[in-house]
Amino acid sequence: MKITGIQEASLPIGSAMRNASIAFDQMTASALAIRTDQMRDGQPLVGLAFDSIGRYAKGGLLRERFIPRLLAAPARDLLDEAGLIDPGRCMAILMRGEKQGGHGERSGAVGLLDAALWDLRAKQMGLPLWQCLGPSPSGASPAAQLATYASCGHFTDNPDPQALRDEVAQCLALGYTRVKIKLSGRHAGLDAQRIRSALDAGLGPGQLAVDLNGQWDSSCTDVLAVLAEHPLAWVEEPTAPLDYAALAAFCQSHAGPVATGENLFSADDATNLLRYGGLRPAHDRLQMDISLSYGVGEYRRMVENALAMGWTQQAFWPHAGHLFAAHVVAAWGLGSHESAPDASRLYGGFWDGVPVVQGRITLPSYPGVGFEHKANLMAVLQPLC
Ligand code: MG
Repeated sequence: MKITGIQEASLPIGSAMRNASIAFDQMTASALAIRTDQMRDGQPLVGLAFDSIGRYAKGGLLRERFIPRLLAAPARDLLDEAGLIDPGRCMAILMRGEKQGGHGERSGAVGLLDAALWDLRAKQMGLPLWQCLGPSPSGASPAAQLATYASCGHFTDNPDPQALRDEVAQCLALGYTRVKIKLSGRHAGLDAQRIRSALDAGLGPGQLAVDLNGQWDSSCTDVLAVLAEHPLAWVEEPTAPLDYAALAAFCQSHAGPVATGENLFSADDATNLLRYGGLRPAHDRLQMDISLSYGVGEYRRMVENALAMGWTQQAFWPHAGHLFAAHVVAAWGLGSHESAPDASRLYGGFWDGVPVVQGRITLPSYPGVGFEHKANLMAVLQPLC
């Protein structure tokens, strides 16, 4: 099998919503297709990938550096002994000449290619991706069914508390049993009102998570008091992502579960988080993003390092990542999968016709990731194929 071309595109995915840190009106995402000369059912096999959300498209890096590097490699160097595309060998080629550390946006560009390579490999094998990702680092059995939660409740121009309550109620109506909303992290009155609005939708406090998007600091003691009023499912990313001492101080001040890690993009960074961030393996959660972190191989190292430090695979709740990340959660028995509940968005919902039932989904048996079975996403991927 030979790669015959790699096409990428930057897509606008913006909308008028904000978290406590950034606005999403100018947000973009990369889509990518790896074309091959291998035929299946009269069509060339194509590996597809779609970005994780929140850090803009990676077209420049892909076009200038990483796609040419992969296309220049001899075809045999990209395959394993069975003639299947080998994402591990491809990774070694992609990372040739790259210094360690300082990951920047590079890790997301490489992660996008890694995702498309895995989709391609699974299609060569004729299996859903979750059955092709190798044994779980923990030894957990793969399973087609997995837990998911709804990530919503962004800030908008509509200050009416009823709007947030309606949004959370819609998640419950869709079958979710856990919902995450955005808080300011700085304004106790506003955050208390938002928590009340979400709970008014019919959630128990243990079903509600709140995301501070790195905005809390030690002067915000009144916010701590608001968070302590309810036994929340978790408080997410309370402090700046790389300030491990600040996170440790927060963990000292908040007894409930904390989740973080979505803005760390390497196994070394993740290990430092566990060494110095004050997190507690008994109930905290790790949200490193698979596709923003160089892909499956680097993410496996993150899980392996955490296991060696006393964590379980159930503590891993990967950020975003959409359909691709769901396969990794299923394959390795991870804790849960983050989902944007609005299926009309390219990064929202699941495969067409796959419902959320009591907070869980069952992965379909389509070969690869199954992008071909989410019509609105496939409409933007098809022109790349
Ligand atoms: Mg978050």
